[in-house]
This record gives sequence, structure tokens and C-alpha cells, in this order.
Amino acid sequence: MNVLVVNAGSSSLKYQLIETDSGLVSAKGVCERIGGDGSSITHKQLIKDIKVTKEAPMKDHSDAMKLVVDALTDKEIGCIADMNEIQAIGHRVVHGGAYFSKSILLDDEVLSKLELCKSFAPLHTTAHLMGIKGCLATMPGKPQVLVFDTAFHQTMAPEAYVYALPYEYYEKYGIRRYGAHGTSHRYVSAEMAKLLGKPVEDTKIVTCHIGNGSSISAVKGGKVMDTSMGFTPLAGVEMGTRCGDIDPAIVPYLMEKEGFTPAQMDDLMNKKSGFLGVSGFSSDSRDLEDAIADGPSNPKYERANLAVNILKHNIKKYIGSYAAIMNGLDAVVFTAGIGENNPHLRELVCQDMEFLGIEFDKAANDAAPHVSENTKISTDASKVAVYVLPTNEELVIAQDTAAIVAAL
Ligand code: ADP
Repeated sequence: MNVLVVNAGSSSLKYQLIETDSGLVSAKGVCERIGGDGSSITHKQLIKDIKVTKEAPMKDHSDAMKLVVDALTDKEIGCIADMNEIQAIGHRVVHGGAYFSKSILLDDEVLSKLELCKSFAPLHTTAHLMGIKGCLATMPGKPQVLVFDTAFHQTMAPEAYVYALPYEYYEKYGIRRYGAHGTSHRYVSAEMAKLLGKPVEDTKIVTCHIGNGSSISAVKGGKVMDTSMGFTPLAGVEMGTRCGDIDPAIVPYLMEKEGFTPAQMDDLMNKKSGFLGVSGFSSDSRDLEDAIADGPSNPKYERANLAVNILKHNIKKYIGSYAAIMNGLDAVVFTAGIGENNPHLRELVCQDMEFLGIEFDKAANDAAPHVSENTKISTDASKVAVYVLPTNEELVIAQDTAAIVAAL
């Protein structure tokens, strides 16, 4: 089945056309600056290896979707003859609250529940709704499926998702752990379970999705027991610009000392912290690694090194604590931008973990700095398997969509 995977952001819309039986991506692209000046579409036709970028006015996501369909059906840069060759649309949705524990076919009831998710992720949900409306306007009657980043984490027990705040705020506002990157954790944990060669029910896996945004999950028997992101994607390990877990008392303390408003404090923790805040110069792990490679002669070295070591320390703590709550560990998986492309961080994390059964294979890790296929970085003797598995959230979205639509 040909599924158009749509990932709508507030001013952007990414898409991929995926044939779900083969997993083949025939085209992908992005519309940028939707609703602003200088909006453009970049379209890649992967079969003929063509890439075009063109400026085109897009006042909203419906305009963007029209351009996407035009590009997909274009005689020269397209890959399908007409829209009928797209059987369904699959949307990436960032937050499904506690309303959605699995992917679902869009209907009026689903749409109104999604409206309620605005209270958790206002910017993202508004963008998703615009993307959905854009698809309804451009491809009326085409089945649309929503795939939620939070859904995979809905298997957590209350002890993992309820915060030790007065219970009334959980009931009143839905304040609880929801997690994020669920589609990625689901994909790589399932791939890892296959590699372990034992029934999924018997597997204990820690998945480390480490990118600009990062989260770690404990997946036991194919179900999430805990995950590092929380009520929002600010929780957990240090990230590109997010602070991750901090003592919550720091928030009122800093607000009082610096006279920050809640919005300023939120901005500081989300956009000025993490790698950027600690290093003082970049949120991108490549820049930090360059400074570290230069050594102490580079004035940026010390804090770049500190920023990376904080992340290492955080990840180790999560792996250890998740092994404890799962009562064991079969495998650790690294994925996403940093997980797949930063051998230095992988080495730092996996060193000195023999007590847990991890025997790191440095040579294998060094030989695969950028991983595009499943790669083992633990020794054959290691009790715990450590793998780098490239994530593929779009494929999961396309496959879920195809399965739901095929059953109609
Ligand atoms: P997001 O959370 O925005 O999806 P990514 O998963 O793309 O982010 O991760 C971005 C991070 O991954 C950046 O810190 C970047 O340095 C790192 N990264 C991505 N690709 C590469 C690469 N080819 N080489 C080294 N680092 C990379």
C-alpha cells in the first residue's frame, strides 16, 4: 500500500511516500515557512535521485498539501500518476494524552479528542490539526490515520507515571508522565527483540533515543515500564537545548533571583540549557565533539567536555535504574542523530559497565561511526547485547496506517 506520511509542524510540513510491503520510500520532502515570507518546498524523488527546491507561496497547510500532491504527481519530479495511487495518509502526532494508546483511524470523535490534546502540546497539536485539515481539503475521502509519539508509553503502571504531587492535580489537569519518541522506542525495541532471537515477552531492553531531543525507555516484554521524558519533553537526560531532570526547587529559586516570568523560565530550560547552556557555544554534538577533539588548547574544550560528560552520566544512570526496575537487562540500543552518529558518546556510556554485563566492543564501535544499518557494538561474550539501530519512525507510521486501512 502507498501511504503518505505527514509530519506537520507549526510552519513546516515533512512528508514521505512509502510503499509498505517493500518499505520503499519513493519520495520525500519538506515545506518550510508555511504562512510566512519566502515559503518553499524541497522535494526529493528517490527512485530517479532528483532533488528540487522551489519557492512558492503557502498561506496555510492546505496550500502546502496541494504543493506536495503536485510534486508527487508531477511528470518530471513525481513518482505517481495521480492521487488515487495514494491509498492512505498517516500522521505523526506528538501528544495523544491518555486518550490514545494506539494508532487510530481519523473520524469526528478522534478529531475532537485530539482537540483536547492541545492542553498538553499546544503548538504541535495545532500544527497537526492544520496538517489534517490540509489533507481533508486536498484529498477528501482519503483515509487518515493518527500515530502518536506518546502511545507506546501508555503501558506504564501508575507507579511509573503518577508524580508524587497532590493527586488532585493528576485528576484535574492530567499531570502525569506521558513520555515521547514512542514510535522510535517501539521500532528499535521490536528490532532489538528480533535480534535477541527470543520471544518478545522474555526481553528486557533499554532504548536510548539520543538526538537533539533525547529519551530513554525501559521496555520489558515489548511494553514500556518507564521512560525518561515526563509530562513534557523537558524531562530526562540533558539535551541539545533542554536541561532534562533538575531539582524542581531550582525553578522558583531562579525565578526569584533573576525576576524571570514563568515564560522566561520555561524558555531558559527548553531553549538555553543542555549542551548549549553548559558549553556556552553550541547545541550541536558535532561542534562539541570538534572542540573536544582539539584538546585543552581549545578554550571551548573544558565546557564542551563537561556538557558531553553530563549526558554520559545521565544515560548511565538511566540504564542502571531501568535494569533495576526490569530486574535484568538483555540489551541496550542507541538510536537517533547522536545515538547513530556519535561513537565517542557511545563509548563513554558503555565503558565501566561490566558489573551490569556490558562488555563493550571498541573496535566495532570505532569501525561504525555513522550507522545506517543494525550494528553490534558489544563483544560476543557480553551478557548484555549493545546495538546501534537506525530508527525509522516514518516506516512505523506507514505500516500502522496500512494495517488499519487494510482492515476497513
Ligand atoms: P531531533 O531530535 O531534532 O530529531 P536528531 O535526531 O537529528 O535531532 O539529532 C540531532 C543531533 O544529532 C545533533 O546534535 C547532531 O550533532 C547529531 N547528528 C546528526 N547527524 C549527525 C552526523 N551525521 N554526524 C554527527 N552527528 C550527527
